[in-house]
Amino acid sequence: MSSTEPPAGEERFAAGDAQFVSTGALPDGRRIDELLDEALRRFRPEQAGVVADYIPALAAADPGLFGLSVAEAAGGRHSVGDALEPFSIQSISKAFVFALVCQELGSRRAAELVGVDNTGLPFDSVTAIELNDGSPMNPMVNAGALATTALVPGATSAAKWKAVQDGLSAFAGRPLHLDIPVYESEASTNLRNQSIARLLESYGRLAFDPLATTDVYTKQCSLAVTTEDLAVMGATLADGGVNPVTGRRVVDADVCQHVLAAMATSGLYERSGTWLYDIGLPGKSGVSGGILTIAPGKGGLATFSPPLDTAGNSVRGVLATTWLSRTLGLNLFASSDLHHSETP
Ligand code: GLU
Repeated sequence: MSSTEPPAGEERFAAGDAQFVSTGALPDGRRIDELLDEALRRFRPEQAGVVADYIPALAAADPGLFGLSVAEAAGGRHSVGDALEPFSIQSISKAFVFALVCQELGSRRAAELVGVDNTGLPFDSVTAIELNDGSPMNPMVNAGALATTALVPGATSAAKWKAVQDGLSAFAGRPLHLDIPVYESEASTNLRNQSIARLLESYGRLAFDPLATTDVYTKQCSLAVTTEDLAVMGATLADGGVNPVTGRRVVDADVCQHVLAAMATSGLYERSGTWLYDIGLPGKSGVSGGILTIAPGKGGLATFSPPLDTAGNSVRGVLATTWLSRTLGLNLFASSDLHHSETP
């Protein structure tokens, strides 16, 4: 099935059909603090991975930085290590801009226009577009992210940028600002993304000017965040679209559900399958070293550590999230034998 076709039988489901949720609770706050401390202690010594340098400004990052934050859907916040260190959000922005576009166009229409299927190819693949008849494939790779940014409301690039900056700030619960050196560095080296935008345009799959779209996309990737910000942004997606710190609704619950599904399919580059197999949660990573993971109904877990594996995922971040998904009890696929226990 091509990613532009609706699933068979979609018309049989009405928007008003009852939706039940399937989520539990996090451990108490003191236990969350203990587990974050322990994750920091365990994985800080890890030395593997290489800091990204294809965007020149990212190469200067300190490889020793390591921060972890949890924001509970119930409002509690927990951080350890370098959780207040700012870094550019990079690809993690893709999930939130897709949420804003889903909110505007509806999750079904956004999926038809952008796609929600995995490419199995690198995030900046041109081959994936050619192999799939011009489809951007999904919002978490650059082609789909550029197609998504082009769909952000606004007739000019300034209006689209304002919608993105205001929208992502509402997810974070505070105004987010541009990291100007990172933006300028990427803007002067992003020929590949400009080419992807032009290729999409040639297929009639880009809804706005290619260079202006690439510029807004580069700005969205250059917004400075901390792990505390990312955790709150994630907790908003975990909380049916209401920011648990500000109490403000940012997007509808239906949007969160679909954005999390897209993150689960393709959020961790070519390792998305391995990630889901090991961690069992929707996540999104970025080349500056951030990873955001969402436990629906429970909260957001954000990690920051710049050295990356060969797929572009933070090495300490993957290790810490794997361990925390187990110890905090987050894996969506984990169950236990409650119904056939032998104890009376
Ligand atoms: N701005 C980066 C790019 O488009 C984001 C890449 C990423 O974080 O995966 O190359």
